[in-house]
Amino acid sequence: MSSQTELQYGTVENYVGGEWTTPTVDGENVTNPATGESIARVEYSSADEVDDAVATGQAAFEEWHQRPVEERIQPLFEFKQLLEDHQDELAELLVQEHGKTFGEAKGELRRGIENVEVACGIPSLMQAGHVENAAPNIDETAVRKPLGVFAAVTPFNFPGMIPLWFLPYAVATGNSFILKPSEQTPLTAEYLFDLIDRAGFPDGVVQLVHGSVETVNTILEHDGIEGVSFVGSTPVAQTIYKKAAANGKRVQAQGGAKNHVIVTESADLEFAAKKTVGSALACSGERCLANDVVVVEESVYEEFVDLVQAEVERQVVGNGLDDDTTIGALISAEHEQRVRNYVETGVQEGAELIYDGRNETVEGHEDGNFLGPCLFRDVTSDMVISREEIFGPVLGLMSASGIDEAIDVMNESDFGNAASLFTGSGSEAAKFRHRAEAGNLAVNAGTAAPMAFFHFGGQKDSFFGDLHAQSEDVVRFYTDETVYIERWPDA
Ligand code: NAD
Repeated sequence: MSSQTELQYGTVENYVGGEWTTPTVDGENVTNPATGESIARVEYSSADEVDDAVATGQAAFEEWHQRPVEERIQPLFEFKQLLEDHQDELAELLVQEHGKTFGEAKGELRRGIENVEVACGIPSLMQAGHVENAAPNIDETAVRKPLGVFAAVTPFNFPGMIPLWFLPYAVATGNSFILKPSEQTPLTAEYLFDLIDRAGFPDGVVQLVHGSVETVNTILEHDGIEGVSFVGSTPVAQTIYKKAAANGKRVQAQGGAKNHVIVTESADLEFAAKKTVGSALACSGERCLANDVVVVEESVYEEFVDLVQAEVERQVVGNGLDDDTTIGALISAEHEQRVRNYVETGVQEGAELIYDGRNETVEGHEDGNFLGPCLFRDVTSDMVISREEIFGPVLGLMSASGIDEAIDVMNESDFGNAASLFTGSGSEAAKFRHRAEAGNLAVNAGTAAPMAFFHFGGQKDSFFGDLHAQSEDVVRFYTDETVYIERWPDA
């Protein structure tokens, strides 16, 4: 472990009750994936430290949830403005701990800010229902009420956006909220909380605790936490779902993915190739919406393979802070090795590796976690590389007789996060919309990312729970509906 003084960003801190404190359990160093250098230290929060945050959150909730809703959203407006004003610094920091490009970091912050904007509309989103004369002389009203303290446990891959799928809605609805960000990317979270600190929330309403598995277990077992929002890999999502439910909590758990693109004969093939490659390789493929299996109608398969290959050849691997980089570093050396193993598996399984990025190097960054794009053709649906989440810059192409077979292949997947279709046919689009077993669908768009005023879908092994992140779904997650009946016989 490097000593604190050698590290560019020192030790990250918890934010509890409006105070910054260093957690006390031995943690790990935070590494810049492009350089291999340790840039910060994250210690983990003990059970007592989580307990303190929960008790502080409960105390803050008592006053906060009674504030008029119009007052509760004022710090969110301020937070939004601070995010706008500081997005370049925040994006630069995010790149240094994550490895993605500066443009990708700015893009994710934009999507995060959208959620703050939507949550500012909570006076409308919290409205439930009212029926006059629901029964003789009886009017009936439903009221959405906050519950107390909620927590979110988030992954490394969108450290600036994913916390904002939850935080603004949790507090706007009147709850208090605790974020446990990924230990691999804690600096972005700390910066977000630096802005929270300046936005005018009362102490204890929004809190940050760093940590790893044990910290999460304490959250899952804590009686004072009403519900947990989770985003991460499928095995962990399943565990979180079971443990949180067993402890009587609300839980929404988003897991991993394996997303398909279907390209039919009627599609604009050049456009489809560009969008497909963008979707597969953006953020070095470390996206739950990455489309990395492409099923192409056989009549245009050869043409499409050539177009994709030309697009892959245009990619530039490098430090995310360099302007011409299109593919940044992978999060860790360990993860890079995992992705390389998948590429080797693909070769062993008999898929043809027509672009091999494994030997690409980045000058001056010999210790970075770089892997150039890898493009396979003639992948089949039984291969590991077409079934498991790779989470790296690896793209596989396969052929199918037409839209029906392509949808069948896609629906064999255990996952159901996203899918895209490129077509020029309305009837194919309708078939896709009706039959595709995924929660986020796109036609003629590479990435099926919903705007913040729609929920973020997810089905099968990509989601455990019922109410999703973002928009009205998450408002329902963070509130309970009381039904109120009133009778005035004289009226
Ligand atoms: P991860 O599951 O390793 O970690 C996510 C969070 O869970 C972290 O905060 C981590 O500290 C905690 N954690 C890890 N192991 C745990 C355990 N055993 N018990 C309790 N907590 C634990 O995920 P990651 O590597 O940070 O993120 C990548 C994964 O997230 C990918 O699978 C990706 O598809 C998925 N993801 C899904 C979505 C979605 O919307 N479905 C969005 C983004 C990322």
